[in-house]
Amino acid sequence: MSQSLASAHPISSYLQADDLGPWGTYLQQVDRVAPYLGSLSRWVETLKRPKRILIVDVPIHMDNGTIAHFEGYRVQHNISRGPGKGGVRFHQDVTLSEVMALSAWMSVKNAAVNLPFGGAKGGIRVDPRNLSAGELQRMTRRYTSEIGLIIGPTKDIPAPDVNTDERVMAWMMDTYSINQGSTATGVVTGKPVALGGSLGRREATGRGVFTVGREAANNIGLSLEGARLAVQGFGNVGGVAAQLFVEAGAKVVAVQDHTDTLYEPAGFDVAALQAHVKRNGGIAGFEAGESLDPAQFWEVDCDILIPAALEQQITEENALRIKARLIIEGANGPTTPQADDILADRNILVVPDVIANAGGVTVSYFEWVQDFSSFFWSEDEINARLVKIMREAFSHIWQTAQEHGVSLRTAAFIVSCTRILEARDLRGLYP
Ligand code: GLU
Repeated sequence: MSQSLASAHPISSYLQADDLGPWGTYLQQVDRVAPYLGSLSRWVETLKRPKRILIVDVPIHMDNGTIAHFEGYRVQHNISRGPGKGGVRFHQDVTLSEVMALSAWMSVKNAAVNLPFGGAKGGIRVDPRNLSAGELQRMTRRYTSEIGLIIGPTKDIPAPDVNTDERVMAWMMDTYSINQGSTATGVVTGKPVALGGSLGRREATGRGVFTVGREAANNIGLSLEGARLAVQGFGNVGGVAAQLFVEAGAKVVAVQDHTDTLYEPAGFDVAALQAHVKRNGGIAGFEAGESLDPAQFWEVDCDILIPAALEQQITEENALRIKARLIIEGANGPTTPQADDILADRNILVVPDVIANAGGVTVSYFEWVQDFSSFFWSEDEINARLVKIMREAFSHIWQTAQEHGVSLRTAAFIVSCTRILEARDLRGLYP
């Protein structure tokens, strides 16, 4: 890190609770759980300090003959319960503070569904839409090589996240394997099935969102038959979840992504919308629906709201105007703590990210296990195991919330932080 960058962004500045970004949100969430940790609360600072942060320069040859430099990160928040685990995102707004928060949410998420993993996350500050396929591949490979120091099947296992997919995972696996001298399929998950990927992984996050969403709806007496959904983000998470809700009798009345906001009270043809997004890179130009101003998305008449895009979307600005009874967080960190309080006052149930979107990493765990044993399971077996894990984890968190009279988010943090700090306590400090 250069001197000027170091003085502009000292690491300690990311450790303050007054940070308004995602890391500040996470720190406030930890403060809310601390009173429920009993004697383990002596370890709570562990949760507020990432274990390891790597910042790398990623230089590549551009197609026009110039050399471009991108800033990349890999943060291992906690590895007390097992290797680091979490995705890699390519986005123009990626910052260290954001990757720190996302890595911490992975620690909490993995513990919430009781996977034997710690939490990690990576990212590159880049708009991948401005790169050719060759540039994207060179950037991915150089980044993988740079973080190769700290990743590995037993150390830290990356996966897809915003703007990364199975093609990117194939390049990461190949680059790591070449540097090691032998094929190591278990270094990343979310790979193509032909390279040791798992059946059902692509749909897993959306399937998990649907599974816990259905449980939550049931618990509050909300029928899915005819329920109206508003979905922000129509990619791998929002699109798949929407499809499963529609199959269960619901209809999607509003969708928003970076290209447009569309409203159709009669309900969209979700399969046609998914095909449109695949072809055009966004919902803009879809044949049905009225285009709304982006801010109006939060006010549409609906029963279930699924934010499945980026962080900090539901804020004190719009939380008062939301009409849904149930919010299922497909994205990581979409709701600020201030908005959480407003939604709780308004009796709107929030199923938090750390359980709602845990389906992806759960099938990543299955992929990792299958790679280790080189024995692959059927899609039915994978989906059945996924649904079982998600339902049991949700039910445990629901009971914890009832027991302590807290939100589902604080309950999920109680369950997870207890597991993480128990491992920390049992392992003890070295030396
Ligand atoms: N990026 C996904 C998440 O936020 C998946 C992580 C993984 O599969 O390791 O949960």
